Amino acid sequence: MRQSLAIVGGGPAGMMAAIRAAETLGDGSRVVLFDKNGHLGRKIYLTGKGRCNLTNLRPWEEFATHIHPNQGFLQQAFRAFPNEALIHYFEEELGVPTVTLQGQRVYPASLVAGDVARALERKVLDLGVDVRHGTTVASLADLAEYGAVIIATGGKSYPVTGSTGDGYRFAEEAGHTVTPLFPSETALLPRDYDAGLPGIEMKNVGLQLFVGRTLVQSEQGDFNFTPDGLESGIAYHLSRRAVWALVNGLQVDIELDLKPALSLEKLQARIDRENPRHVRLARASLRSFLPDALIAPFLRANPGLSSVNLAERLKNWRFPIIDYKGYERAVVTAGGVSLKEISPKTMASRLRPGLFFCGEVLDLDGDTGGYNLQIAFSTGALAGKSAANFIM
Ligand SMILES: Cc1cc2nc3c(=O)[nH]c(=O)nc-3n(C[C@H](O)[C@H](O)[C@H](O)COP(=O)(O)OP(=O)(O)OC[C@H]3O[C@@H](n4cnc5c(N)ncnc54)[C@H](O)[C@@H]3O)c2cc1C
Repeated sequence: MRQSLAIVGGGPAGMMAAIRAAETLGDGSRVVLFDKNGHLGRKIYLTGKGRCNLTNLRPWEEFATHIHPNQGFLQQAFRAFPNEALIHYFEEELGVPTVTLQGQRVYPASLVAGDVARALERKVLDLGVDVRHGTTVASLADLAEYGAVIIATGGKSYPVTGSTGDGYRFAEEAGHTVTPLFPSETALLPRDYDAGLPGIEMKNVGLQLFVGRTLVQSEQGDFNFTPDGLESGIAYHLSRRAVWALVNGLQVDIELDLKPALSLEKLQARIDRENPRHVRLARASLRSFLPDALIAPFLRANPGLSSVNLAERLKNWRFPIIDYKGYERAVVTAGGVSLKEISPKTMASRLRPGLFFCGEVLDLDGDTGGYNLQIAFSTGALAGKSAANFIM
């Protein structure tokens, strides 16, 4: 009898796996796709602030620097289905024109995330895949009748979308190691967070992350002060290391550099030109250095400000970080099914023949910028093809 394969999870990884498996088998009815929700790709609708940043066009060498913790693992899946091929696939096969915006981020030209989710779901259905909407798989043992199984259940972040971490349990059921999980690309809460800061958008500033007083990461760009703390952009880029340090009980500080384009000396020279030395600064004189909304919180955080210490404070505004936003609001889950136990050539389990993994359930995550969806699409395509070959 001809065997079927089961895919658990109809997110971007699971849908791409279903498409490739159906194409490889030339018979979509041999592919069964389970998802908890009434429609597929529920998380995709939330991505990129509703616009879906579906990949990033940077060449592999640069792309790889945004992948954690093991970029080498992704390389073969990426080479088999790289960012350019993904864009081509969306444009030519799925009928979704794309646009590349700032930072090489690629979006659907409509800037409507739902267009990406719906195009993938349509393709899955057109290929004749047996989609079981609204069906929660409880355990691997329930899938014993299938010749191959792909786990594409995602991580634990935004559990309202159905990503509740079930795949980690399935992996453990098969004897796999799951590395410690923690939220990443998430807001970082400073101690005594000033009520005047939320709502302020920071443009082209510097952030430096200190763990146990050692500088471990520097970023330059944009971020926002939100009710949850330092969020999005470069704050997210620091959050992976910051959260991991907090989880391990280490001291975490972030220094904000409001004038990254100027050295301390140049900034001091400018301050000296505009203000007599040693004079307590008038609020008005801060206007030429700070956006209006930031002046009051800056003054509260830096008492005793004078023209002597202003440059130093503008370049090193320190925020001790005491907490972070958990899975309910984190963009991605770091940690997951150990990559040591998965073949990077096929996404197959090295422990159980016929079992495959793809997407965020793996111990693989990216920075914001389209990297996480490309991980899902590349590993999903490879898992789908490999699982189909396994049952051929
Ligand atoms: C707010 C937000 C914005 C984001 N924006 C971007 C962005 O712009 N660009 C980017 O690259 N990445 C973005 N990401 C990250 C990206 O969305 C995820 O990394 C990606 O969706 C992971 O894909 P996946 O298929 O592995 O898992 P998921 O998308 O999480 O899909 C897993 C699916 O499995 C199903 N499932 C789980 N358990 C079971 C079970 N037991 N039985 C049946 N079904 C099950 C779930 O219902 C779900 O549909 C964003 C994430 C969030 C939360």
